[in-house]
Amino acid sequence: MSVSQNIMDRTEQVVLHTYNRFPVVFEKGEGVCLTDADGKEYLDFGAGIAVFALGYGNKSYNDALKNQIDKLIHTSNLYYHKPLCEAAEKIIAHTGLSRVFFTNSGAEAIEGAIKCARKYAYLKDGASDHEIIAMNHSFHGRTVGALSVTGNTHYQDPFKPLMGGVKFADFNDLDSVLAQITDKTCAIILETVQGEGGIFPADPEFLQGVRKICTEKDILLILDEIQCGMGRTGSWFACQHYGVEPDIMTCAKALGCGIPVGAFVLNEKAAAHSLVPGDHGTTYGGNPLACAAVSAVFDLFDEMDLVGHVQALTPYFEKKLDELVGKYDFLVKRRGMGFMQGLVVEGRPVGAIVKKALENGLVILSAGSDVIRLVPPLVITEKDIDEMIRRLEASF
Ligand SMILES: *Cc1c(COP(=O)(O)O)cnc(C)c1O
Repeated sequence: MSVSQNIMDRTEQVVLHTYNRFPVVFEKGEGVCLTDADGKEYLDFGAGIAVFALGYGNKSYNDALKNQIDKLIHTSNLYYHKPLCEAAEKIIAHTGLSRVFFTNSGAEAIEGAIKCARKYAYLKDGASDHEIIAMNHSFHGRTVGALSVTGNTHYQDPFKPLMGGVKFADFNDLDSVLAQITDKTCAIILETVQGEGGIFPADPEFLQGVRKICTEKDILLILDEIQCGMGRTGSWFACQHYGVEPDIMTCAKALGCGIPVGAFVLNEKAAAHSLVPGDHGTTYGGNPLACAAVSAVFDLFDEMDLVGHVQALTPYFEKKLDELVGKYDFLVKRRGMGFMQGLVVEGRPVGAIVKKALENGLVILSAGSDVIRLVPPLVITEKDIDEMIRRLEASF
């Protein structure tokens, strides 16, 4: 029996079966390559679901973590520490927003954003029946609050009743959003680029229109940048392409590049009129190790000019994907921004392509039921794109 098979068999005996895992056991990573327990190499265009933006084995990043481990890993939020201060300063500087609350995951960032919006509205009118408008085909996470604003009945149905006061509208359809607004609406939540739902970027008129309504009606705009933020689309945060600022932004995934950390980030208005001491908390959230990771990620992104790199390489990436769409009938179109790209597949199961690619040494993801999702580490080169195309074509 192979080393990998042994680990897979033992895992299935003890880990709750909530994932149909692909039959591979990853052991180490170097740059954009992963190696499995049997020594086979894979080119990684999934980055641990849009997480490992820096590539694997970045020495500066690893050293920053090791240094922090030797100093102080955890203190709780009852005390101050320098990594917290520095990580928050960097998020503020890159988002243009005002205040940060660190969480351990994306879903928790969404939970915090929801609480914040409800408190903001509560302080205005004292009512306890405020509503949030979310989008169909959205994805915001698996905790009950985040699931309640996730527009996917398949994920929701077994777990009802969910959090109340949520209404759904169609993404990129401003009229459908308008139709759901009432005097009770406290927030509109959406992903700037829908990820899990199938890689749908917001139309500029839609996002700008939603921003305008929110401003006029004093509704908080929550932009979920958990997947599309942190340089992935060729700007620090995807909303910056649109000239739209949210009242609350959620971050996670590449924020810590592998250390579990998320954040919700508020503008001055939302921060000044929402959560106060006693309203919200977390034991681990924003601990010294997590914050050292965030800090190192911002420093390295700047040092390596990763945002500039994504901008520079995006035309080549898109051209190569467009060539595939031109060549294969079952690829009906490409959608995406920067290094967050989807190929829409017709008449073939996407899962089978993803599985075949893995056999061919290429890690890719699916999104929705019919999209091949490519969210590589941001450090890929033209050569990596060429190799990805070769291995992907071999998998069709
Ligand atoms: C992954 C994701 C989440 C949930 O993040 P977790 O860290 O898995 O809880 C929320 N929103 C979006 C857009 C995501 O892609």
